[in-house]
Amino acid sequence: MSKVKNWHLGREMEYAYEESRPKRQWAIVFDLNKCIACQTCSLACKTTWTSGKGQEYMFWNNVETKPYGSYPLAWDVRVLEKLGPQTWAGGKYQGKTIFEGAVPSERAVHFAPTDEDWMYPNVGEDDCAGSVPNAGDHIGELPHDRWFFYLPRTCAHCTYPACLAACPRKAIYKREEDGIVLIDQSRCKGYGECVRACPYKKSMYNPHTRTSEKCVGCYPAVEQGVQPQCVVNCIGKIRVMGFINPPWKARADNPIDYLVHKKQIALPYYPQLGLEPNIYYIPPVHADPAYLRQMFGPQVDGAVERYKTLHKDPVAAGLLTLIGSTDRIMHGFRVANGVARGFDEAGQEIVDVPVTEPIIERPAVDEKTGVVHYNTP
Ligand code: SF4
Ligand code: SF4
Ligand code: SF4
Repeated sequence: MSKVKNWHLGREMEYAYEESRPKRQWAIVFDLNKCIACQTCSLACKTTWTSGKGQEYMFWNNVETKPYGSYPLAWDVRVLEKLGPQTWAGGKYQGKTIFEGAVPSERAVHFAPTDEDWMYPNVGEDDCAGSVPNAGDHIGELPHDRWFFYLPRTCAHCTYPACLAACPRKAIYKREEDGIVLIDQSRCKGYGECVRACPYKKSMYNPHTRTSEKCVGCYPAVEQGVQPQCVVNCIGKIRVMGFINPPWKARADNPIDYLVHKKQIALPYYPQLGLEPNIYYIPPVHADPAYLRQMFGPQVDGAVERYKTLHKDPVAAGLLTLIGSTDRIMHGFRVANGVARGFDEAGQEIVDVPVTEPIIERPAVDEKTGVVHYNTP
C-alpha cells in the first residue's frame, strides 16, 4: 500500500499503487435540480455501447430515484453498511476508506451483487421519502417533508479506481491523456474482482463474452473534442463534461474547475469511500439535508446555499446557460456584456449564448391571419 493524497478527504490515504495523476482528468458535472429522469442518457449510452449479447441488463449510465432507487439493488446501502462509521471533522474525513477498511488479503471493502440485483434498473422510481402516503391524504395537508430526487450515474473514472486496484490480471488501466479508466478486453479473464470492488457498481460482468465491461467515457468522441453520448443527448441540459484540475491547479476559466473549486457548488458523491470519483453533483436544494450530508459530505449545506444565490452572479449564471449548449468539450469560458462564450482547447470560440433572453408573449389569436395559437385561448 502507498500513501496518496486525496483532496476529497482533506488528507492522505492508503492505496494499492503510488499517486499518479493523468495529464488531464475527464469529469462530468450534473445539476441534480434539473434532472427529469427521462432516461434519454441511459438509452443514448445503451444504443451506442451495450446493445449486444450478454448486455441485456447492462446500463453503463443509469438514473435512479433517491433515496429508494438503486441499480444494482441497494448498492449504496450495502457498501456504506460494510464500511462502518463515517465521520468528518474540520473538513477532514476521520473514518476509513474502502481501501483502508479492507482485510489484509483484499484490496477493498467489497460486495458482489447477484444476477437478480442487476435485473431491476428502475426499482424505486419516483418513490418518495418522508411520511408514508395514505390514500387520499395528498389532497389534504401538503406533505412538505416528502421528497425524492433523480441521480444519474456513470463510471466516475476515479483518480484511485477500486476496480483497477482489485484486478489480479492488471487488465484495467487509467489513460495518461485523459484519466479515462478502461478494461483491456484481451487481458480480462472475467474473474469479476472489479465488479466486487467498485463501490459504485459501475463495472459489470458480461456472461456472453465472459469478461467485465464498463463505461468507456466515450473516449472516441472525447479524442475528437466531443462530449460523451450521455451528455450531449441530455434532455434536461443538466450535464457538462470537461477536464477537472486538482484544487492546487484550478483555473477559474475552466467550466468544471469553476463549478467545483471556485464556486464550490458541485461535489463528489460518497467521497468517504476514498476513490476521488470524477463525477460531481450540484445537490438538490429540496432534499433532506441529513441524507445529502451522508451522500455528499459536510460541504453540502454550503453548496446548497451558494447554489440558491447563483442567479445573482452574472458569471455563474452565464456558465449555467452554457451547459448543454454545445456538443464540443469546453476547455474555457467567459461571460461579458450579457453573453456567455465557450472555447475549445485551442482557445477558439465554439459557442455563445445570451445570459438572459427576452420573453415574448404571443397573443392567443393572431389578428392578421385569424390563427388561434392555443387550444385554450
Ligand atoms: S437525459 Fe438528462 S434529464 Fe434526462 S434522465 Fe438523463 S441526466 Fe436526467
Ligand atoms: S467508478 Fe468503479 S468502475 Fe469506474 S473507475 Fe471508479 S472504481 Fe472503476
Ligand atoms: S460516457 Fe459514454 S460510455 Fe460512459 S455512460 Fe456516458 S455514454 Fe455511456
